[in-house]
Amino acid sequence: MQNEQNEQNEQNDRDRQGEQATRHNDGHGDTGTAVGVGAGVGGLATAVGLCRAGWAVRVLERRTALEHYGTAFGIHPTAQAALDRLGLGEALRVRAVPYRGAKIRRPDGTVLAALPLERIERKAGRPELLVSRPYLIDALLAELDRLGGVHLAYGQRLTDADALDADLVVGADGIHSAVRTARFGARSRVRTLGTAAWIGIAGFETGVYGETWGDGRFFGMTPVEPGRTNWYAAVPAATTADGLRAAFAGWHDPVPRTLADTDPATWIRYEMRHLHPALPAFVDGRRTALVGDAAHAMTPNLGQGACTALLDAEALTRAVAAHGRSKLPAALRAYDAERRRSAQRVALGSRTLHRFVTARRPALRDALVGLLPG
Ligand SMILES: Cc1cc2nc3c(=O)[nH]c(=O)nc-3n(C[C@H](O)[C@H](O)[C@H](O)COP(=O)(O)OP(=O)(O)OC[C@H]3O[C@@H](n4cnc5c(N)ncnc54)[C@H](O)[C@@H]3O)c2cc1C
Repeated sequence: MQNEQNEQNEQNDRDRQGEQATRHNDGHGDTGTAVGVGAGVGGLATAVGLCRAGWAVRVLERRTALEHYGTAFGIHPTAQAALDRLGLGEALRVRAVPYRGAKIRRPDGTVLAALPLERIERKAGRPELLVSRPYLIDALLAELDRLGGVHLAYGQRLTDADALDADLVVGADGIHSAVRTARFGARSRVRTLGTAAWIGIAGFETGVYGETWGDGRFFGMTPVEPGRTNWYAAVPAATTADGLRAAFAGWHDPVPRTLADTDPATWIRYEMRHLHPALPAFVDGRRTALVGDAAHAMTPNLGQGACTALLDAEALTRAVAAHGRSKLPAALRAYDAERRRSAQRVALGSRTLHRFVTARRPALRDALVGLLPG
C-alpha cells in the first residue's frame, strides 16, 4: 500500500515536472540542436518530446522508408501516462483496446492462473492497452508532422557517431546500436537465448486471451483491433515455419486454429535476445543518451519493450526541457537516475520470466503458478 502511494506520488511529481518543463521552456529559450539515430518507437517519441521543448531535431533512419511492419504493443498505464505527457494520449486511446480477462493455461486448456491485468487496472485507474505497432508509428509521425520542423532523413545508416554535429545525440538505434558501441564499447553484447518468437495477426477474434505454457514453448493471444487477434509463439530457435504448426498441434482451441487460419507468409520471426551485461550508464555525461532497445533490449516476456522505450523518451526529453542546453550534463544525469535502474530491473524480470516459462520440466512451474490468485 505504501509502495502504491509512493508510486502514485512519483507519478504526480512527473506530471507536474512535465507541465513545468514545457511551460518553463516556452520562456527560457535555452534550447539547442539534437540528432536522433533510429526512427522506431523510442526515436520518434524522443523527437516529439524534444520538438515540443523547442529543440531543433534531426532523425537519421537507416531504412529507406518506415515499414508498416509488426503486430501489437502492450501499453502499460505508466507508458500511457508518458504518452499523455508527450501529447499523444488521445491518439493512443482512439485505436487501442483494453486487455482484460487473460489467463495462463496448460496445453489442454486447464486454467492455471489469471494474468494480473485487473489488479494493474485497479491500481492505476486505467487498463493495460494493446495497440497495433504500425498505428502507433503512424501516430508518432503524424504528431511530428503537426508540430513541424523535425527533419526525418531516411536511408541514413549511422556509422560514425563522432561525426554527428549537434548539442545532443540520442541513440535510439535498437538492439545493435551503433551509438552504444561507439560510446560504451562492446562489453554489453547481444545474447541469444536459443528461443525464437513468431508473431502474427489472425483475421478473427478468438475471445480467448492470455498465454498457454507447454514444455519449452508457449503461445499467447491478445486483442488488438476489432475482428483481429494478435498472437505470439515462442519455440526452440531451430523450429521452422512448417514446424510451428506441428509444435502446437493438439493444444487447446483456438491455438491450432489461430495458426491454421493465418498465412505463414505474414508471420514474423525473430530470435529472443537481450543485452548482457547491463550498461553502467545510459548517458556519456557530455552529449549522448541511449533510449529503448539501444539501452536495454529485453526479451518480450513482460511485453515492456515499447513501454520502456516510451518511458525513456519522455523522461529524457522532460529532463532536457527542464535543464536546457546550458545544463545538458545535468539533464543527462537526471535521465540516467530516473530510468536506468528501473529499465534494467524490467529487463532482468523479463529474462527471468523467459527462463521460467520455457522450463523443460514444467510440472514444478505449473504447481507454483497454480498458487497465484485465480
Ligand atoms: C520493423 C520492426 C517491427 C517490430 N515489430 C514488433 C512487434 O510487432 N511487436 C513487438 O513487441 N515488438 C516489435 N518490434 C520491436 C519493438 O519495436 C522494440 O523492441 C521496442 O519498441 C523498442 O523500440 P526502439 O525504438 O528502441 O527500437 P527499434 O524499434 O528496434 O527501432 C530502432 C530503429 O533504429 C534504426 N537503426 C538501427 N541501426 C541504425 C543505424 N546505424 N543508423 C540509423 N538507424 C538505425 C532501425 O532501422 C529502427 O528503425 C519491432 C521492431 C522493428 C524495427
